[in-house]
Amino acid sequence: MDVDAFMPNEPGLLEALRFLTRPTMGQTVARELPDVIPEVGLGPSAALEALAPPVLFEARDLSAPGFFAHMDPPTPWITWATSMWTASRNQNLLHPDTAPAARELERRVVDWLAPFFGMGGGHLTPGSTIANLTALWAARQAGATEIVASTSAHVSVRKAAHLLALPFRAIDDWGDPGDLGPAAAVLTAGTTATGEIEPLDAGRGARWRHVDAAWAGPLRLSERFAGLLAGIDAADSVAVSAHKWLFQPKESALVLFADHDRAHASISVDGPYLAAPNVGVLGSHGAVAVPLLATLIAYGRSGIAAMIDRSMRLADELHDLVSSHDDLVARSPPATGVVCWKHRSRDSTEIRAHLRDDVFVSQTTVDAETWLRSVAANPNAEPERIVAAVLAAAASIASDDAR
Ligand SMILES: *Cc1c(COP(=O)(O)O)cnc(C)c1O
Repeated sequence: MDVDAFMPNEPGLLEALRFLTRPTMGQTVARELPDVIPEVGLGPSAALEALAPPVLFEARDLSAPGFFAHMDPPTPWITWATSMWTASRNQNLLHPDTAPAARELERRVVDWLAPFFGMGGGHLTPGSTIANLTALWAARQAGATEIVASTSAHVSVRKAAHLLALPFRAIDDWGDPGDLGPAAAVLTAGTTATGEIEPLDAGRGARWRHVDAAWAGPLRLSERFAGLLAGIDAADSVAVSAHKWLFQPKESALVLFADHDRAHASISVDGPYLAAPNVGVLGSHGAVAVPLLATLIAYGRSGIAAMIDRSMRLADELHDLVSSHDDLVARSPPATGVVCWKHRSRDSTEIRAHLRDDVFVSQTTVDAETWLRSVAANPNAEPERIVAAVLAAAASIASDDAR
């Protein structure tokens, strides 16, 4: 056995770092990955060489100027460094005795962020899918017997209803939701398709009110845009994905509760091998709070807000460019950095298929119409470049047609 495998190997780590900081493959020749587990290991160097091309060089560069597509952001380098640190220590927050600092660090990041949402506390989850499930579990423990959400709600809300065996009722809008008495009402702050913010004061009278702020939640850190989510602090629970607009590596999100002691108690399970009750859906749970904490310390509230504000400005710029071009149509001004747009005479799916390979937009269907969708998760995106590429794609479809 290689006893050194568990020791810090400085030359090996520096080699890994060199791959990371090299913008392209350079000298590296792509190696075929083995078809089956190698019987005899090829060694750590060979493993790095085999995996650098697919992992590092064939990956999409989410910070590239042509990337204005999905909710996945580029990540600050400090998160790369601290993710490596946490991998090296492999703390499990399930066990207070072996992870004392890691538990404290997660508590701190939650204590820092919860007040922006008017919440008392909560914990980290691997995404808002689990954050929504966790919040709705607490809602069920508090007596909710049904989940009500709009038709724009994220699929994870329906998933949660399914897992919790609660009936799910979709409503067209929050104007007249009917009797909500025993329901958990889920309001979306930043819908996945169009970025719209549902009225966050709706659903009053429901047993539980949950705000799914997976995408737009981080706007609360911006002095300029926090007001867009006014009313969020009256919710019973809030979900926020840190791996979206807080620029974190996956998988990082928060579930927050107004009364977190009570909510946590209602979703805690004791076990004979546990020194502290296991709270929430996860069992073993790593120190994902550390990169988030590092980002907040390194850049501060104002630094993160500047990244978000800039993204919002880019979405406005894209919207303005689209609106002022005769061949392009914008669906509506972006509410939270999501721009739905299209070419007047060319199908969005076809446009996407003809885009040059350094430009990315996503697509979404709203009211049976297919739109290009650009999500401002990348503060380095260049709207002019995106618009030019879509117009070029439309022109190339036209010249194909003419041939
Ligand atoms: C992305 C998203 C989710 C799911 O979050 P994950 O972090 O991807 O699990 C839930 N709700 C909304 C509104 C989202 O945009």
